[in-house]
Amino acid sequence: MKYQPIIGIEIHVQLNTASKCFCDCASGRWRDKPNTHTCPVCLGLPGALPVLNQQALEKAAQVGLALNCSVNVHTFFERKNYFYPDLPKGYQISQYREPLSIGGWIMVGGKRVRLNRAHLEEDTAKSIHTPGGTELDFNKSGIPLLEIVSEPDLNSAEEASSYCKEIQKVVRAVGASDCDMEKGQMRLEANISLAEKGDKELPDYRVEVKNINSFRYLEQAIEYEIERQKKALENSEELNLETRGFNSKDGVTYVQRSKEEAHDYRYFPEPDIPPLELSDNWIAEIEESLPELPAQKAERFVSDYDLRRDYALLLAEDGESADLFQSAVDAGGEAEEVANWIINRPADVEGVSADELADKIKQEEESVVEDEDVLLEAVQEAIKENPEAVEDYNSGKENAVQFLLGKVMGKTQGNADPQKTMSLLKKHL
Ligand code: ZN
Ligand code: MN
Repeated sequence: MKYQPIIGIEIHVQLNTASKCFCDCASGRWRDKPNTHTCPVCLGLPGALPVLNQQALEKAAQVGLALNCSVNVHTFFERKNYFYPDLPKGYQISQYREPLSIGGWIMVGGKRVRLNRAHLEEDTAKSIHTPGGTELDFNKSGIPLLEIVSEPDLNSAEEASSYCKEIQKVVRAVGASDCDMEKGQMRLEANISLAEKGDKELPDYRVEVKNINSFRYLEQAIEYEIERQKKALENSEELNLETRGFNSKDGVTYVQRSKEEAHDYRYFPEPDIPPLELSDNWIAEIEESLPELPAQKAERFVSDYDLRRDYALLLAEDGESADLFQSAVDAGGEAEEVANWIINRPADVEGVSADELADKIKQEEESVVEDEDVLLEAVQEAIKENPEAVEDYNSGKENAVQFLLGKVMGKTQGNADPQKTMSLLKKHL
């Protein structure tokens, strides 16, 4: 292809705090009766005063640090002004000029993908479209959202979805969200444009595809856009900044609106929430509170246990497998074998404790050794008891070895491994 896809991703993650971002209403009650967790703040009533939830700030900073961002000591909230029925107060409390976390990077299939920022904002209400009109549920309004923005470092649909999966792993490992996409806890947006191969500069347009709720849809949407834009460019059509939606039924994107530029939101500082002055101490404490992340865990498995890298990566990305591996190794299981069982023999590991797993592995090793002893004995007996066959073999009749193999099979009730037996026979003849 003459063109190189240039892709950046924005991810919104609902943080799993007990209460909402700027009020005391219970958060995350996605199944409860509509409008049962509301107050003047999250309904957006005039005069209500938002107060920042410390837990939301902590979780947001945890994720930022886990994504190798730096946390800004000076940070503040701004009003992002736009009107939509799910945002009746006319603005979203968000961050713009001084986001909580900036920079950062994660590794995606050996490539370092840079992050631009991870900022804290509030979720909007949920619109429920019925034949009679649109109904609004404010239980979701005000849930803390972390918006994680990548640099346009991704170059294919597959790479973009791998990036999103990596982000999901990190956020889950931190414990800041389950990132369940069916529950709307993680939402994806892709910015896609095509550059001519070899071009140093980014294209002067980009197409944003919004509200994607699965990795598969993300890949479909990006692939569709790459084809659509390629055709447009080949026909010398002009491509512009625009926002598109994704129709998962037909696998196509469609125009929603030409993109409002950032200044259209008329960002200005939120006057009701004082700017934050975070201390280096506080940031260091958050950093210390982080659990070991999958990438770090994989590195440790490789360096401490000399484990194959592919095994280490597979184990580290699943918390339960990683814990089982660690405990079974601590209980005396041989690392490579423990990993092999967990990865390749899930049925044998199902419902088994770490101690039991370590024992099972030891038993199997012992029985293998036992079997080998029995086999060697049978081979030696067969050789001793059949001197004619041995003589035939040594005088060049290769077939004689088949006769001896049959004898060994008889002695072991057919349990001997033919290949192993054969090589033992040839060694001892
Ligand atoms: Zn509320
Ligand atoms: Mn946002």
